Parts: sequence; C-alpha cells; structure tokens
Amino acid sequence: MFIGHYAVGFASKKLAPQTSLAWFLAGATLLDLLFPLFVLLGWESARFVPAQSPFLRISLDNYPWTHSLLMAVVWSVAFALLCWAVTRARWAALVAGAAVFSHWILDFLTHRPDLPLWPGSTARVGLGLWYSSAGTLVVEGLLFVAGVWIYATTTKARDGVGRWALVGLVAFLALSYVGDFLSSAQPDARVFAWVGLVLGWVMVWWAWWIDAHREVRSEG
Ligand SMILES: [Zn+2]
Repeated sequence: MFIGHYAVGFASKKLAPQTSLAWFLAGATLLDLLFPLFVLLGWESARFVPAQSPFLRISLDNYPWTHSLLMAVVWSVAFALLCWAVTRARWAALVAGAAVFSHWILDFLTHRPDLPLWPGSTARVGLGLWYSSAGTLVVEGLLFVAGVWIYATTTKARDGVGRWALVGLVAFLALSYVGDFLSSAQPDARVFAWVGLVLGWVMVWWAWWIDAHREVRSEG
C-alpha cells in the first residue's frame, strides 16, 4: 500500500491536533522509510519482476526487519517513545505509535503472502488485495480522500503556504500513485531504494512545512 498509509497519517491529526502532521505521516510510513535504507545496507531486498498488475511488479522477497509483525510492534513502541521524548505529548505519542502499527495492518490487507511474522519465521501472510487492481485503487483512493478531508477540516490555513503546500502534497501523492500504476518500469532495486528513501523523507519534511502554516480549526 502507498497512499493509504498517507491517509492514516493525515487522519491521525484529528486525534492529536496539537502535534505536527509530520509525526503522524512519518509514523504511518515508517516501515517504508526504513525499508529502502535497509535495502541499500543489504539487510533486506526487493526486486522488480514482470507482472500483469502494476501492484505486483515488486517482489518483496526479504524484509523481516521492517515488515514482520513482531518488528512492526517493536518499531511502533520505539517510535511512540521517540515522539514522547521529543514532544512530551503522551497521547500524541500513542497515536503516532498506532500509526506505525497501522502500516502493517494495511500491508497485510494488500500484499501477497510475503509478510513474515517475525525475523526468521517461514510463515508469510498477506490477504492479497493487490491481485485486484480495481479493488486496490478503490480502497486506497477512498482512504486517501477521507484522510485528506479529515486533515483539511481539522486544520485551517494560516497563510498561502498552509493552503498551497497542502494542495501540492496531495496532488503530488495522487499523481505519483497514478503514474506508478500506469508505468510498467522495472527499476533496479538500488535506484528504487534511493528514490524511495529520498522521496519518503521529503514527504515528512513537506508535512512538517504544511503543518507549521496551518492551525487547528476551533469548533463552531
Ligand atoms: Zn510497507
């Protein structure tokens, strides 16, 4: 899953409005922020294979340190502690930790059975929504629209940056998603990892920039 993770990040803002969107977007995408790094370090691997559906082009052969169920729990706790140490906001830290764990749940829904339960486990799980391109587009698209809508109505722009940087990020994510869907490219794993790593962290910075130019909408 790709933009569905961003949807969770956007929506989380409503649960803890005083904390920057950047924490929640980083949380919801954390496993995919670490994955390309671990690929470049040689700890995990992925490769591109010819496939009928664009979502099945990537073969996730080995990613137990970022995407096993056990490690998803570990990363969730670690990220919640980091968030709490930096922000001192206990509830927001719990929300950020839950966002990390939501990543595994959404990947479980979409991936083929390639998610290990723990590093070294031979059992692989995944419900395989990716086998249906239409199903994936509908589920992920609806999640994304709902997440953005929740964020856009929980906060309001303080200036032009607050408005247009948000529009820009949403457009960028949506176009990347559609572009990726339409593309049949099979990039080298290292190129894929570098692009994923840089873009992933740019998105976190972008979210921080947006959020610094928006404020919580007061009720009524
Ligand atoms: Zn993932």
